[in-house]
Amino acid sequence: MAIAPESIDEIKSQVNVYDVISQYLPLEKVGSSYRALCPFHPEKTPSFYVSPQKNIWKCFGCGKSGSAITFVMEYEGLSFSEALIKIAEKQGIKLKFIGKDKFQENKKYYQLLELVSKFYQQQLRTSPKARKYLSERNILPSTIDKFNIGYSPEDDSFIKWIEKNNINKEDLVKIGVISSVESKKDKFSGRIIFPIKNLQGKIVGFGGRSIEPHKSPKYLNSPETQIYKKSEILYGLYESKD
Ligand SMILES: [Zn+2]
Repeated sequence: MAIAPESIDEIKSQVNVYDVISQYLPLEKVGSSYRALCPFHPEKTPSFYVSPQKNIWKCFGCGKSGSAITFVMEYEGLSFSEALIKIAEKQGIKLKFIGKDKFQENKKYYQLLELVSKFYQQQLRTSPKARKYLSERNILPSTIDKFNIGYSPEDDSFIKWIEKNNINKEDLVKIGVISSVESKKDKFSGRIIFPIKNLQGKIVGFGGRSIEPHKSPKYLNSPETQIYKKSEILYGLYESKD
């Protein structure tokens, strides 16, 4: 059994660091933050700060910092999963679990989407047309790198690539990249590709913006899959964390 990805995301987005840490330490309000004596190094004046707004904690004495989850891991000496279970219990969140088979299957899909994303990024690097499209819209190379933006060519290079690398077409259907095992193109051909990530930073699907004027719809997103539940993912949420 493993904790379902949507439950991990729920804890990360719903649980406030203040609610968790205040159960362990007496927190004193200072401005918009709270402080306490650091539990991780000896000190006489408090340098351990909790910011409910930023949803992080940081000690200016020993330099440690993190989230509610890392605090509980560190304080209680727990693993990531154990800390999640503890927090969920205390905050009254019901965790969903998935079996080991499904966990392994999800892992395979994440790896495959990562691989496909790398292919799209590589295609963007070698496509003057796609690069021109982005530069005309003032999308900087740093933005392209940060969001792992890619491009899917209109020709048959995707199918050639998956055949050359022996990638299982049924898996690609399951993660919503091709329509069927007979497909001659991926669903996103002729589009600029924006990977959609969950809160753990794993790619769960793609958004594609057409650069061909005749092509509709203008925007196309991956369908819902075993690992991509649209109600649980907001585009750019992972990148906007820092
Ligand atoms: Zn400290």
